Amino acid sequence: MTNIENFKSSCPVCETINAGRRSEEFSDRRKGLPGIWRLVDCLKCGAIYMDPMPSDAELQGYYDAYLKEGELVLSVGLGSRRPKLRQVYHAVSGDVDPRDFVEIPSGGRVLDYGSGDGNYLSYFHSKGVNIVGAEISDKLIAASEEAGLSMTRVDDFDRIPFPDGQFDVVYLMQVFEHLRSPRRFMQELSRVLKPGGRLYLAVPNAASAWRRVFARNWVSGWFAPFHLVHYTRDSLAGLGREYGLPAVDSWSRTPESWFRLNVKAALYRKDNKVENPRLFPDALPFKLPLMLLLRIVDLLVRERDCIVVEFSKR
Ligand SMILES: [Zn+2]
Repeated sequence: MTNIENFKSSCPVCETINAGRRSEEFSDRRKGLPGIWRLVDCLKCGAIYMDPMPSDAELQGYYDAYLKEGELVLSVGLGSRRPKLRQVYHAVSGDVDPRDFVEIPSGGRVLDYGSGDGNYLSYFHSKGVNIVGAEISDKLIAASEEAGLSMTRVDDFDRIPFPDGQFDVVYLMQVFEHLRSPRRFMQELSRVLKPGGRLYLAVPNAASAWRRVFARNWVSGWFAPFHLVHYTRDSLAGLGREYGLPAVDSWSRTPESWFRLNVKAALYRKDNKVENPRLFPDALPFKLPLMLLLRIVDLLVRERDCIVVEFSKR
């Protein structure tokens, strides 16, 4: 699968042409979509990107298949009703949740880009924050609007549908890696932020120690064909700097749910729907010890599975 060759494509992060030297082919191990996708390593900036990039029509097709299953009803969970309990739980589970760390100035306007099931959006809304969500899926938009939340439709994958200088805070949780044109999009993020505004990005960490441990079974990160570009802290910070968004903070942790997914991918190598629950290791008696073990081991590694980078608009 791995080969040494030159790639004609240019890196979508640093724009270096022919910087890719190593490629690997991946199938979808999580949702079982048919197909093979190739990822190329950029030797210049450390990013890893899909080559060729899927077209708009292909992306739309993937997301339609992804969101097909089940009805979506927004529910306000315990995590929103009991913030202290949530923070304690997340300290143990390693979940990366913007409700725990995104700081919103009083009266500030916030954009939750790629708001998904509206979980975070509804929490901030309930706290009186002036927040708007953005999604591409009619189904997700309808579910959030049903719950009384303010939503905007995204029609163009490369454009944020707001005028300049609108927001004090923008956050994208596990969204930026789904975008095909990171340069174009970073420019868009910079454009919609007010001077001094903050941007928070959470993405899988291409430099994670767990990536090396799990290799091809690092399905939490690879997630072909949905994750199009994989970043390191440095490649993200470099990108922000180019568009007037210097990084002011960054950290990483390994969510237990991601780790468990990778354990399943490594154990059940023929399974192409590893998101489906299994007795081992998904049942509570296995899950809890695994969670605690991971918290201890995670202390020993420098680069963990999910990176969060905070940027400040100049
Ligand atoms: Zn690059």
